[in-house]
Amino acid sequence: MTTVLAVANQKGGVAKTTTVASLGAALAGLGRKVLVVDLDPQGCLTFSLGHNPDRLETSVHDVLTGQLPLRDVVLDTDEGFALVPATIDLAGAEAVLLMRPGREFTLKRALATLDDDYDVVLVDCPPSLGVLTLNGLTAANAVLVPLQCETLAHRGVGQLLRTVTEVQQITNPDLTLLGALPTLYDARTTHSRDVLSDVADRYDLPVLAPPIPRTVRFAEASASGATVLAGRGNKGAQAYRELAGNLVAHWDDGADLRTFTAAE
Ligand code: ADP
Ligand code: MG
Repeated sequence: MTTVLAVANQKGGVAKTTTVASLGAALAGLGRKVLVVDLDPQGCLTFSLGHNPDRLETSVHDVLTGQLPLRDVVLDTDEGFALVPATIDLAGAEAVLLMRPGREFTLKRALATLDDDYDVVLVDCPPSLGVLTLNGLTAANAVLVPLQCETLAHRGVGQLLRTVTEVQQITNPDLTLLGALPTLYDARTTHSRDVLSDVADRYDLPVLAPPIPRTVRFAEASASGATVLAGRGNKGAQAYRELAGNLVAHWDDGADLRTFTAAE
């Protein structure tokens, strides 16, 4: 059985793409067969995994518009997992999809053609709650919400959670909300911790551990077309490895996901 995990937050810059790439590499490192799907027309995931979206002939756009089977657009990456790339064409897919019945189910139907070739599929949603994100949430077993630990991080969380509830009611009753993943976390100040307790209290939303520390290694890595896991050991890579281990224990053995406590 393939587990599909959507990584969603309509706010940009909260580390959705970084989480998909790094968690993908970490899960591959644990021996899982991993596919990551770029659902953002900006193609940042595609680019950060060493493929230039401007030079690609085929992409997820061709799949969502019904022109190619999903298998035909899958690319390899240097880090032991597969990628469904996005190009700027995807910006036009939204309009095409809106004209179609069952538009929220397009990605789910495409993934169903893969016959469990992968253990885990990670979906990188764009920074909006439009039809592409609805496709990601409808195709998923679970959703993870990266949350940047800064003041006003909670703005928009209520709206996102309402969208998740609507998807559960209408297109995907099986969708579970794994929780928020704290990103760009600064352990040296109390500010990050205060933001997280506030969000957890306000929305009754599990906040997962470990928080992902803020480190310059992420920017360096994506610019070089690799993830932080490919480089020398660093605390960002370590945090994603730990998260991957927690997820695998949860999926395989039903272990509770570890949640954040203010002591971290
Ligand atoms: P999103 O997909 O939500 O828009 P990205 O993953 O593209 O967010 O991240 C936004 C920016 O933040 C990128 O430049 C990325 O390199 C940087 N970034 C992500 N995670 C971290 C981190 N833990 N520490 C420092 N910078 C980070
Ligand atoms: Mg992104």
